[in-house]
Amino acid sequence: MIIYKKTGELAKWLEKQRSARQTIGFVPTMGALHEGHISLIDISKRSTGLTVCSLFVNPTQFNDPKDFQKYPVTLEKDIPMLEKAGVDVVFLPEVIEMYPDGTRGLETYDLGPLETLLEGKFRPGHFQGVCQVMRRLLEKVRPDQLFMGSKDYQQCMVVQRLLEIIGLPTVLHRCPIIRETDGLAMSSRNLRLTPEQRANATAIYRALMLMKTGFTAEPFPILIENANRILEAAGFRVDYVSIADANSLEPVPGPSPSGTVALVAAFQGDIRLIDNMVLAEPSIS
Ligand code: AMP
Repeated sequence: MIIYKKTGELAKWLEKQRSARQTIGFVPTMGALHEGHISLIDISKRSTGLTVCSLFVNPTQFNDPKDFQKYPVTLEKDIPMLEKAGVDVVFLPEVIEMYPDGTRGLETYDLGPLETLLEGKFRPGHFQGVCQVMRRLLEKVRPDQLFMGSKDYQQCMVVQRLLEIIGLPTVLHRCPIIRETDGLAMSSRNLRLTPEQRANATAIYRALMLMKTGFTAEPFPILIENANRILEAAGFRVDYVSIADANSLEPVPGPSPSGTVALVAAFQGDIRLIDNMVLAEPSIS
């Protein structure tokens, strides 16, 4: 496994691989790795010739500076995990490498309603930051295929839109959510939960399952109300519980022909967790 910190060296190596007709898979991460990240690497390894994984805690996507400061960094654990997973190249840039002219006054992207719905609404500027870092990473790695987790459902939609805006032919794969045995979606932020908060956190999965099992029997507003109740009883401060069209993320009053998804964002203490579950696949193609 090769570790590059500088774009020039990474680009030179990747160019050599491209001329040898290797296909390149890319898994971008912010480190503090867990089995969810490793599942993306596994899928990339099965689908492409080479797998590049980046570790970069991107300052421009944190709308809350405290969240950025407290974001876990576990590099000494991450590197052996990547080695074991069989990653070919790790890209480990410093902030200056990604933003040589600083992080202020950066370009913006027209993301349409994605910017104001759900995560867009509750984390103003977050998706602009995601696009700023993803554009830089994508232009440096120029992968054939990109592997991202559907745990960050709206982020996948934003990155798909970014690929269209910048006109890259990279194919985005939305990979399944990996969960702990009690249903909690794996997340780097789980590391910050106290044992009590960790026990409470399973309420998110219970709320999502309630919406899934009640999908055909109960009106959506009742499902949302009951999900909120489960979360609040477990001490969560809820940003949103939404049942939405799987393609637009607009809230829907009943099943949507293009698929229906339930999405949750809520705080345990100062730790914000998100999760989602597809309630119904599209009924039209
Ligand atoms: P992060 O390091 O949180 O930015 O995540 C890097 C990538 O891993 C993103 O594409 C996430 O959606 C994905 N990811 C995070 N948690 C999970 C999970 N539990 N299952 C699958 N993918 C995940």
